[in-house]
Amino acid sequence: MPEYALILAGFAVGLIVGLTGVGGGSLMTPILIFFFGVKPYLAIGTDLLFAAFTKLGGTVSLARQKLVPWRVVGQLCLGSIPAALATLYALHRLGPASPQAQSLGYVADSSKVDAKKYPTYKAGNVCGNCQFYQGKDAWGVCPLLGGKQVNGKGWCSAWAKKA
Ligand code: SF4
Repeated sequence: MPEYALILAGFAVGLIVGLTGVGGGSLMTPILIFFFGVKPYLAIGTDLLFAAFTKLGGTVSLARQKLVPWRVVGQLCLGSIPAALATLYALHRLGPASPQAQSLGYVADSSKVDAKKYPTYKAGNVCGNCQFYQGKDAWGVCPLLGGKQVNGKGWCSAWAKKA
């Protein structure tokens, strides 16, 4: 990994954000993915932490200048925090960012399986009748996917008939 190139990329993004106010994530995430070969799910997490640090300075500076309408901030938080929690909950139930899910071609709805890409798939083979499925309801835990919850109607390429 060319470290100087990463530092330069961070410098360039900081410069553009400082000059234009454009969100850094819209620049840094694609840079990490397309120029540095960082996997998308890692690029997003990396960029979020990077943004947390870079935005902290701007936040403190603007707050000191009394340029932050805190009432608006509070209202935005009222909407965004529940949305973020709901997203985390959904991702816990196996989101698309899961590397295991991507590598095994997991889909939460088996009718969406790409049959050309996964010729071993057969209609009727679903998580609910897979030997790895640990659940009785619509959702169950799959140890092959890191113990995350999968949909009983889902499928992945590791499907094996329940004994
Ligand atoms: S291993 Fe079985 S239960 Fe787990 S995701 Fe694949 S098909 Fe579903």
